[in-house]
Amino acid sequence: AAIEGSIPPPLVDSPKCPRCSLVGICLPDETERLQKRRASQRWIQKTLFDVAEYGISSEPPEEVSEPVRRLVPARDDRRPLYLDTQGLYVGKSGRVLKVKEGGRVVQEVRVADINLVNLMGNIQISTQAVQMLCSEDIPIAYFSQGGWFYGITEGMGLRNVMLRREQFRLAEVAWFCRRFASALVAGKIRNCRTMLQRNHKEPPRKVLSLLKCFEEDARRASDLETLRGIEGTAARVYFEHFAGMIKVGDRDESIVGVASDLPSGDAGDVENGSDQGGNGFMHTFDFRGRNRRPPKDPTNALLSLAYSMLVKDLTIVCRAVGLDPHLGLYHQMRPGRPSLALDLMEPFRPVIADSAVLSAINTRMVTEKHFVRTGTAVSLTPKGRKQFYRAYEQRMDTLVTHPVFGYRVNYRRIIEIQVRLLGRFLMAEIPSYSVFTTR
Ligand code: SF4
Repeated sequence: AAIEGSIPPPLVDSPKCPRCSLVGICLPDETERLQKRRASQRWIQKTLFDVAEYGISSEPPEEVSEPVRRLVPARDDRRPLYLDTQGLYVGKSGRVLKVKEGGRVVQEVRVADINLVNLMGNIQISTQAVQMLCSEDIPIAYFSQGGWFYGITEGMGLRNVMLRREQFRLAEVAWFCRRFASALVAGKIRNCRTMLQRNHKEPPRKVLSLLKCFEEDARRASDLETLRGIEGTAARVYFEHFAGMIKVGDRDESIVGVASDLPSGDAGDVENGSDQGGNGFMHTFDFRGRNRRPPKDPTNALLSLAYSMLVKDLTIVCRAVGLDPHLGLYHQMRPGRPSLALDLMEPFRPVIADSAVLSAINTRMVTEKHFVRTGTAVSLTPKGRKQFYRAYEQRMDTLVTHPVFGYRVNYRRIIEIQVRLLGRFLMAEIPSYSVFTTR
């Protein structure tokens, strides 16, 4: 196998696997389960051009009769590090990151305790710290102060050239892209519907039926243009009823916003109530629909930040698996756009990003005081952003049952498993790929 340059298939039910350091990459039991699933059909992706049935699905999986052994830990003990205070400097000493403000060390973080460094805005990092993080395979993600995702620094990533070759080949196959995109969009609509069912005060039956129809339409869409139309209409319907999942009062809890001429770095003052009176802008979580670039109300500001966080996480996982995050199968290529990460985040938008936003609002982790307005744009204060990162990480850390394998792992792990399985699917090592949907 080494001479051929191919990776041998995983062992079957081997006692070696639970102790193997590669188990999280290899996914031996998951691969075997998926290989068995359609073994009777003798389906091989490379001969797909001859067959009508091919294994990309957003259909809800059958009940899991026997869960797969969970050989990977349910969650990673390491945590992402978020640095948000403007003007910080990150250096290192030994295997410890030293975070300084005005020359004074304000935080020390052991490299062994983190799996990602998020630099939000104007934060400097030393070459020595970058080199150490690269050698430890800990990515550094760069954002604007407002949460715009610029990019990543990481070690010698993108090692699996064979996988990328298949990705590039299949990205040229129009029907494959259409089928894959249909499954992603159908899965996203399904998850939106589940969100409304679970969280809406009174989920309107008509809307649930409508979303079910859109899900079916997405599965059957004949081309990407039609699919985009269905996705857009479904998203509009979903966001028209998003407000029904916000469970904070909008009268007595609405708070006057902050003066627009506050320097952004000082906006944290609003936490102390200095915004009372402000220049008369009212912030509430009264959500009327999605808007962006810039977001014009607090809920949209949170949604934009949440999607930015999520696309960053998908980009990192794509690169870790060896996929090119910029070559999408649904989203079109555009310079600097992580199209594949945007593709893969579709079914996760409602269950991770929207859910984190709702949780931040409904549990009052983020309140109306945590926003500032500049012109028509509404953005979070530094304290508000910190609170939202907590809400987002809590959601990422929530345990959920994998619909195909029946074991419980957190969302961060689910994302990684899904992207690794996509890699195996593109390499024709497993016959089917199921988009993640929740019940
Ligand atoms: S996890 Fe994979 S690499 Fe490790 S022993 Fe099992 S089959 Fe081999």
